[in-house]
Amino acid sequence: MIRVTVWNENVHEQQEGIREAMAPFHPNGLHNTLADIIRELGDKVSVRTATLDQPEQGLPDEVLNNTDVLVWWGHAAHASVDDALVSKIQERILKGMGLIVLHSGHHSKIFRRMMGTSCNLRWRDDTYERLFCTDPGHPIAKGIPLNFELGLEECYGEFFDIPKPDSVVFEGWFDIGEVFRSGCTFTRGYGKIFYFQPGHETNGAFNNPYVRRIIQNAVEWTAPANELAELTCPHIDTTLEEKRK
Ligand code: ZN
Repeated sequence: MIRVTVWNENVHEQQEGIREAMAPFHPNGLHNTLADIIRELGDKVSVRTATLDQPEQGLPDEVLNNTDVLVWWGHAAHASVDDALVSKIQERILKGMGLIVLHSGHHSKIFRRMMGTSCNLRWRDDTYERLFCTDPGHPIAKGIPLNFELGLEECYGEFFDIPKPDSVVFEGWFDIGEVFRSGCTFTRGYGKIFYFQPGHETNGAFNNPYVRRIIQNAVEWTAPANELAELTCPHIDTTLEEKRK
């Protein structure tokens, strides 16, 4: 059983104008849209949601310490996330917790902390996107065709200032003339991280069956393979006999 926590800043859901535009796609907020996608994995997962406006920003120790995979959607309130909470999340990732960062989460404190770079990119308003699978043997690509149409999505373009990913599983092509490393994997400590570009709040990317499958695959892939590790740096006594070997 993979214990998944879907965290959403839950800010656009309260903003006049954006609230109405996103309601058709996210009638119960982005966190519930994403939780519903992951619950399609059935008995393999238990899923809860967390939002910034909750006590301890939705991630008290009791929640974080019982999370195997953390899914992150944020945009307008990145700066409001406590640095101390970011440090706790970072430590848990280093011990093996999985992290999935979606769309505008590229600028979240936790993603930037884990990357160590600015995570800046070039962006434009909605344009037509096609996603290409560039690592079809990767577990996150299971069941996904070599390319598929996403339709209108906010356009993210290179240069995306991230460290070299372990794998670029998907690349996005936008008909306005941009390309983007849309699905990237990283390993930090014992933890696995997946960044995925689709998911603007007023578009329907999360209704796309392939996007849904990719998120589900990513939950299974980022889930810790073993018990979470303790982060230690032990000195091991070496006997004279061992040294002579
Ligand atoms: Zn966006």
